[in-house]
Amino acid sequence: MQTKVVKFGGSSLADAEHFRRVAEIIHADPSRRFVVPSAPGKRHKTDTKVTDMLYRFYDMVRNREDAAEIDAYFDKICDRYFSIINDLGLQYDISGELAYIKNAVFHASGRDFAASRGEYLNGLILAKYLGFDFIDAENVIFFRENGSFDEERTNAVLSEELKKYAYAVIPGFYGAMPNGTIKTFSRGGSDITGSIVARAANADLYENWTDVSGFMMADPRIVKDPPAIDVITYQELRELAYMGATVLHDEAIFPVRYAKIPINIRNTNAPGDAGTLIVSEATGADPRYVITGVAGKKGFSVINIEKDMMNSEVGFGRKVLEVLEDNDISFEHIPSGIDTMGIIVATAALAGKRERITNAIRRITKADFVEIQDGLSLIAVVGRGMIKARGTAARLCNAIYSAGINIRMIDQGSSELNIILAVEEDAYEAALRAIFDEFVK
Ligand code: ASP
Repeated sequence: MQTKVVKFGGSSLADAEHFRRVAEIIHADPSRRFVVPSAPGKRHKTDTKVTDMLYRFYDMVRNREDAAEIDAYFDKICDRYFSIINDLGLQYDISGELAYIKNAVFHASGRDFAASRGEYLNGLILAKYLGFDFIDAENVIFFRENGSFDEERTNAVLSEELKKYAYAVIPGFYGAMPNGTIKTFSRGGSDITGSIVARAANADLYENWTDVSGFMMADPRIVKDPPAIDVITYQELRELAYMGATVLHDEAIFPVRYAKIPINIRNTNAPGDAGTLIVSEATGADPRYVITGVAGKKGFSVINIEKDMMNSEVGFGRKVLEVLEDNDISFEHIPSGIDTMGIIVATAALAGKRERITNAIRRITKADFVEIQDGLSLIAVVGRGMIKARGTAARLCNAIYSAGINIRMIDQGSSELNIILAVEEDAYEAALRAIFDEFVK
């Protein structure tokens, strides 16, 4: 039998109605053996995620806010769980667990412990509801002393542990430090847990169930009804995710990527949709489109440098990059000419360092001209199909030109997997639409 690891996000487990859907999905396929839940998410737009409530509760306790208010706030968290249990008609008393958590937070348990209880409690309830075993993540997911994730130890322990169970629930988001205290991944980290479990289970597939039917080819807030991407490679996904297309936590692809386990993004509210399949190597490109997707971000600046005879000066680039390194700034792109060089960096990274950086570059390189210009956006046009398709760059430039937009920089990686454009921030949306219209619509 195949093994699938299924992770459900907070919106998929926000209330009893969603728990029912989730159970239906899991029971529909016996190979869905290991389940990784998030904490209950928002039930509606103005609702608060349980994780955020737990952080707030922790802060209230630490700030010694009014005791009655703290009690009332904790009761609200309890109610989220009680209503799920009651609405499901489950005979399950978690009041002891809740009392323990409240007490622990009052007695110096850490912030991560508090936050992690969202997944822990949801995991207990889901295991009960499904009739699955419960594996506490604190016994199988490990961090090192310095706080980094201990992949080797985790994989060794977890893969042995999973062998003992036919079906189990492992809560997402957290694990244990060497001294046993609880530590969480960064926000959205249940995606990472799912990936870790998939690797340890040597799963055939990692299904990541959320509230959208996969990755869209473009940001649906900017273009109208973008189609979902059927198949995307890990590499393409990295490019798009880096540029702001978020559905999956950035770090979630690494454990399964090396094990070559595909990830399938699915929609709990539309289980009939195939979603997006993320694979290590695609057999071919989607014949319908030259590009796989387009994504972008605002908030970039370019450091423009000019110096006569720059091209013949060996080590010029290194000196400039050293200045950035000394200031702890990573760069995005370096479009250059014969005697000019532009370095594109995130504007936020320059905060408080502008003078220092321009002065240092002037001093170290003896450049004739150094200046920082803000207000750029970057757009990544990504697609494994671009390697074969001739004229992609021409079509792209033409589409942008026809929309009356000026291209400030264009950079095609040698892998030919992407073309990066820089345009003024106020032309960002129009540029994205022009690209979408040219290649997708
Ligand atoms: N519940 C955690 C968060 O809100 C982790 C997750 O949902 O993946 O960030």
